[in-house]
Amino acid sequence: MTLLPGATIGVLGGGQLGRMMAVVARQMGYRIVVLDPSPRCPTAQVADGFVVGALDDLDAARHLARQADVITLDTEHVPADLLDELAAIAPVRPGASVLRTIQDRLVQKQFLDRIGLPQAAWAPAGDLDELTAALTRLGRPAILKIRRAGYDGKGQVRIDPVDRAGPETPQAEDPARSHSDHDPAAQLARLHGQPAVVEEVVRFEREVSVILARSLDGAHRIYPVAENVHRRHILHTTRAPAPMPEPQRRRAEEIAVTVADALGHVGVMAVEMFQLADGRLLVNEIAPRTHNSGHYTYGACATSQFEQHVRAICGLALGDPRALSGAVMVNLIGDLWAGGPPGWQHVLAHPGARLHLYGKDAPAPGRKMGHVVLLDDDTDRALADADALIATLTPRT
Ligand code: ADP
Ligand code: MG
Repeated sequence: MTLLPGATIGVLGGGQLGRMMAVVARQMGYRIVVLDPSPRCPTAQVADGFVVGALDDLDAARHLARQADVITLDTEHVPADLLDELAAIAPVRPGASVLRTIQDRLVQKQFLDRIGLPQAAWAPAGDLDELTAALTRLGRPAILKIRRAGYDGKGQVRIDPVDRAGPETPQAEDPARSHSDHDPAAQLARLHGQPAVVEEVVRFEREVSVILARSLDGAHRIYPVAENVHRRHILHTTRAPAPMPEPQRRRAEEIAVTVADALGHVGVMAVEMFQLADGRLLVNEIAPRTHNSGHYTYGACATSQFEQHVRAICGLALGDPRALSGAVMVNLIGDLWAGGPPGWQHVLAHPGARLHLYGKDAPAPGRKMGHVVLLDDDTDRALADADALIATLTPRT
């Protein structure tokens, strides 16, 4: 059934993704209610209604669901069992089965193996014996990742070759590296005994992501493939379109469509990939939601990822994902607030730059506070402009 403007969208989680969707949804005439522990969360600031509660609070989630015509998510870290319960009250899109496959890295990797998509060599690392055996097979360096609830490199540590890099070795500014060590037992301990998976470190040429939307009837719309640069395991810049040969671009799109269809996904989805020097693509991870590397679509594409998600979950026809301009997005991380709120005058004075701030009142190192999108068909120039603008914000220390 199509949900037309006037209908109410319930959002589980009140972060920036929910906020940007809410702004667009309300512009289209939808109502937004959000569940979050904090009434000051980014989404609640722009919503019609708010329910206070943790994302695993079934009573609070039911209260939200009873006010909603459709339910969607700001984060994949909502218990899938809770989504099953809510589905008895209102449709949940994407559904519980999608989340069940994605939110546990081990299940996600098994899923990718099952549908035959390439990924970095990996193994479960439930305990030290399993990890030690895995390292013999995978080699070093390797990355240990907790199975659940990790994001922005949190819950990841690196295991170095034995002949290198003790903890006292100066490391690149990279949290996984600053926790870098060659002792598997010590690294497991750093994850506080949480079940983990381990994967080989991929020597990639570039990282790319494909953002697409899949509708209730299985139609797709694919955005221009984006190239992503991470710093300290946090997304730093996205450039679209990615400078990538046509056959590889097609292959990246094909992989993303295969994932979306196999999951039976409804809504926007991102597939992060590593591109190797020989052109091969490995899937890194799947996000069953709007994605940081798709923020450029708001402004650069005929239909933003946020409007597209609303269209998909409300059963509307999908919009045109076509790029109207090349674009670069640069994230504004909490570290920029170390000397107080940055001055925005240079960003605001740049005619091609659009500032987005998420309304978070507690800047912290590594926390995503906002982003800037630069529209420019010359994406090399836009990347240079982005760096120059960020340099105007860097606090003096
Ligand atoms: P998150 O959920 O934190 O985004 P990811 O698995 O995507 O977790 O890791 C974040 C970033 O860390 C990746 O985008 C990539 O830059 C780096 N990374 C993660 N796994 C690997 C790997 N196996 N090899 C090389 N780099 C990796
Ligand atoms: Mg990632």
